Amino acid sequence: MIYDRSNVFARILRGEIPCKKVYEDQYALAFHDINPQAPAHILVIPKGPFTSFADFSSQATVEEIAGFVRAAGLVARQAGVEDSGYRLLANHGPDSHQEVPHFHIHIVGGRPLGKLLA
Ligand code: AMP
Repeated sequence: MIYDRSNVFARILRGEIPCKKVYEDQYALAFHDINPQAPAHILVIPKGPFTSFADFSSQATVEEIAGFVRAAGLVARQAGVEDSGYRLLANHGPDSHQEVPHFHIHIVGGRPLGKLLA
């Protein structure tokens, strides 16, 4: 899939539209989901133009992958859900219902979440 530079997360990265930022470093940006599914619902996105997990996992450098994963862990800790627990979710492609074609993970927590696909 060719990266669409007009997707909403690309526009957030360029500062063209606002977000409720919770964390940023050279590898990742994290912000509150606009339609939260739980008391804590944060999106973490890499800075590079990757369409989904399939693209990121195969094309990103080891440094980009490590930096992104480290940032996601920090974000969850800062959100205060490390002790109570949280779920990491990444949608790839049509069956997953991926809406935004810039790779992102959801960090969801702050309440009991039930079973994975409930
Ligand atoms: P996905 O289905 O995994 O692609 O999830 C996309 C997520 O992005 C959804 O949970 C949306 O609520 C969220 N979202 C869409 N636009 C924005 C935005 N401008 N700011 C924050 N979150 C957004």
